[in-house]
Amino acid sequence: MTEKVHITGLKRSELEELAASFGEPKYRATQVFKAVHERRLRSFDEITDLPKKFRAKLVDGADISRLNVESRYVSTDETRRYLMKTMDGYPVEAVFIPSENRDTICFSSQSGCPLKCDFCMTAKLGLLRNLTAGEIVEQVIIVLNDVYGIAGQTPHGTNLVGMGAGEPFLNYENLIAALEIMSAEDGLFIVPNRVTISTAGIVPKIYEFSKLENRPHLAISLSSARDELRDTLMPINKRWDLDELMTAAKEFEGSLRRGERFTFEYVMLGGINDSDSDAGELARLLDRYQLTRVKINLIPHNGAEQLDYKTSTSERIERFKAILESRGVSAYVRQPRGRDIYAACGQLAALESENVKM
Ligand code: SAH
Repeated sequence: MTEKVHITGLKRSELEELAASFGEPKYRATQVFKAVHERRLRSFDEITDLPKKFRAKLVDGADISRLNVESRYVSTDETRRYLMKTMDGYPVEAVFIPSENRDTICFSSQSGCPLKCDFCMTAKLGLLRNLTAGEIVEQVIIVLNDVYGIAGQTPHGTNLVGMGAGEPFLNYENLIAALEIMSAEDGLFIVPNRVTISTAGIVPKIYEFSKLENRPHLAISLSSARDELRDTLMPINKRWDLDELMTAAKEFEGSLRRGERFTFEYVMLGGINDSDSDAGELARLLDRYQLTRVKINLIPHNGAEQLDYKTSTSERIERFKAILESRGVSAYVRQPRGRDIYAACGQLAALESENVKM
């Protein structure tokens, strides 16, 4: 058997090459692209406007779907978590987070994660493998179809966040390819301005990302303004320390568009990084690198049995926020979503949970 291609991960030009190799004209590529990404059809048989012979060749030579939804969990707050498997058996998770004016889909860039952030459940899996561009795009298609029906309109437009399992900047090429595919106007049409990618601090890729012409928004996971503590919380800090990270962040700030800001995420860990002096150090750090177009997202820690951390009290978080604000730093407290179904930040570890709804 020859290796099949995953059609969902092909850029337009690659689809055109595929069509040509089947002896088909260029416009067939657009037809297929629209069927996969705009109409979100899930099998070649459903693309009835294609000639039967071409369809048969596609069935032989390509896959539309390479992810299987194993379980779907629905939270009391309406968040949905999808636990899927790749064809070679690796877990992939995506989360749908509805809110009044917009919907957000959180996708994974890797199965598992190689980074060893001490407060995160995904870290316990280790890296299983990078996801392909097609597997990244397909997560979004699966979620949209589940929520709105196949080909169903998305009433609010969709925001995307690359904050699921894995470190997006360690799977950079596939990530960027997937984002390009998802931005197509005659496809999913999720433009970079609606996308935020979160990195734990892969410094060279922050520079590369800054130079991208049409880039998404960026969030950087910080969680401590002190090297000594960040080394233990996020060991990636031993590879690229705060000085290197903040220097890269400053460079990135220079690439911001009018009115755009970028984000530092700060996971609030009770008694670890949430004191008044931690808040002061954070404000000082931003000041030292003259970072002004930033906001801080304070994320209450989502606990788990295997994790030795507890979340900060809400009074502590409010106080931390107030200190930042008093120093001229914008700070926001994130509401955890989908905690009851292990869908919240740092909880994606391919866990089974009780609130299953298929
Ligand atoms: N690897 C990327 C993206 C995935 S994590 C990154 O590290 O940025 C998305 C966010 O969730 C990060 O800011 C991370 O610090 C945070 N996070 C990880 N574990 C968490 C937990 N248990 N509770 C709350 N936030 C957590």
